[in-house]
Amino acid sequence: MRVIRLSGLHLTLDEQEECLMTKAAQVLGIPVDGIASLTIIKKALDARRNKPPHFVYAVKISLTDTGTLPEILPEGIQVLMFHDEPAVDPSSVGSSGVPRQGGVERPPVVVIGSGPAGLFAAYTLAIKGLSVLLLERGRPIEKRVKDVRTFWEKGVLDPRSNVLFGEGGAGTFSDGKLTSRSKNPYSLWVKKILVDMGAQESILADAKPHIGTDSLREVIIHLRGKLIELGCAIQFEARVTDFVIRQNEIAAVVVNDKQEIKADEVILAIGQSADDTYGKLDERGVKMEAKPFAMGLRVEHPQALINSIQYGRWSNHPHLPPAEYFVTATTGGLNRSVYTFCMCPGGQVIGCSALPGFVMTNGMSNSERSGEFANSAVVVNVRVEDFAAQGEPLSGLAFRSHWEREAFLAGGGNYCAPAERLSGFIEQKSSGVVGRTSFLPGVKAAFLADVLPEFVSDALRVGIKQFDKKMPGFISEEAHVIGVETRTSSPVRICRGVDGQSENVRGLYPCGEGAGYAGGIISSALDGIKAAQNVIAAIDGCQ
Ligand SMILES: Cc1cc2nc3c(=O)[nH]c(=O)nc-3n(C[C@H](O)[C@H](O)[C@H](O)COP(=O)(O)OP(=O)(O)OC[C@H]3O[C@@H](n4cnc5c(N)ncnc54)[C@H](O)[C@@H]3O)c2cc1C
Repeated sequence: MRVIRLSGLHLTLDEQEECLMTKAAQVLGIPVDGIASLTIIKKALDARRNKPPHFVYAVKISLTDTGTLPEILPEGIQVLMFHDEPAVDPSSVGSSGVPRQGGVERPPVVVIGSGPAGLFAAYTLAIKGLSVLLLERGRPIEKRVKDVRTFWEKGVLDPRSNVLFGEGGAGTFSDGKLTSRSKNPYSLWVKKILVDMGAQESILADAKPHIGTDSLREVIIHLRGKLIELGCAIQFEARVTDFVIRQNEIAAVVVNDKQEIKADEVILAIGQSADDTYGKLDERGVKMEAKPFAMGLRVEHPQALINSIQYGRWSNHPHLPPAEYFVTATTGGLNRSVYTFCMCPGGQVIGCSALPGFVMTNGMSNSERSGEFANSAVVVNVRVEDFAAQGEPLSGLAFRSHWEREAFLAGGGNYCAPAERLSGFIEQKSSGVVGRTSFLPGVKAAFLADVLPEFVSDALRVGIKQFDKKMPGFISEEAHVIGVETRTSSPVRICRGVDGQSENVRGLYPCGEGAGYAGGIISSALDGIKAAQNVIAAIDGCQ
């Protein structure tokens, strides 16, 4: 049996996937029964303007027919011999993984943070047979979901358990987009683990995979069960409040100001929102530096409007998913880039405060993306020189807190967010009235330029006008902006060397978004895997 990869197969919106077999046979010039099996490897939607949207597939085909395939294929069709790309298992790296050293029981590897970076670091270590202790300041999902609901419905914030802190990390209440620009060999492995834990199989083939917050919550519960089965100890409501460092080596971590836990290796996967932990690391002399990030607002439109902009006359077709967009703009003399980020079709804009007295926005959707609105961050690049006094690594945290505080005050001091019609923001003539938005806990009409640095609001106005040229109708009376959007990436980098260890504290492995080397669910998970592999390599070197 010959196995080939056939790419470039098209289906119209009205054709079912069952047609793929017939289409494949047609382009190959063989009878349908010459194909023993067909599996979808990649599926993408081509919705470029001015032509009917259609789906494009790459498929794996087993041929019963051993005859020759046509030398001339229709335009866009490509046939290659199929080479299976097995999901590379990161535990295959390193020799032993024996959790002992010189006959002495090693203390467990401590992983701080149960976001994608911490979870995948712990998983990689645990399947290698190492003893792992996972410490998470927030609560397990089941309790966290209730805490977050209380915040969104009543405006009562629990600083221990919220959208940013708790099991699953910052992306738990998200759209669960799984895109990553990296060609990392473990990407497929990460997605396969997510599928094993209950995620929809389509994430393996979709060109723009996403899970949705509903499915992600279930996946994380199953992943917790798997980690426990593998022997990993997990403590919730266990905030690391201090680091014991002796002779430039990590010796222990302190939990909740009282419990000292001895540790030779600590994976620091704290995310970008633990200002207190960054502060303690700074106090203990761990080398960090300020880094650029981006900030701006969340824009929200009716999803039907985005569908009509993106799909034109096909916008009501039942087989089209809620439309997405990604737009960029340059601002000439202002010398800034403006771009959309983390777009959530059929989603909801959410408040994601973690500390009392601050408001910031983000986006979330369910796996069906069936909500009435579409939202996206619209952000401007922020340079280190915009906020940092030289040699002050944490000044970006103070900078973003300042604007989050302004948003809290402008929203009325009860975690409602300041909001404005997009047209009013652009024209600098707000009506003082806002229409319906999806934001939880609620919005208050305000001038959003008051909650942004001037260079950000100026650049946003210029950039969004360009978006409107690329997507006519973007600046609509039905569109709102809600603020502020600050958690695009960390404004801090915890400096690490090629071996993944802190540049000046041996045994400390900063990783994930909080370390400043990753951003997004997949890239943070991959960075967590890399940290685990570095720990394994270091332990192997000690045997
Ligand atoms: C609302 C929202 C929507 C998003 N949507 C997407 C999306 O669709 N796709 C995407 O790719 N990315 C998305 N992101 C970004 C993505 O969630 C992050 O990039 C990713 O979660 C970072 O992973 P991480 O493990 O490095 O850190 P985090 O996920 O932030 O996890 C860090 C964990 O460490 C814990 N912690 C912190 N300090 C301590 C301490 N001192 N002691 C113990 N525990 C501690 C925290 O409680 C947290 O659980 C979204 C983010 C948000 C907030």
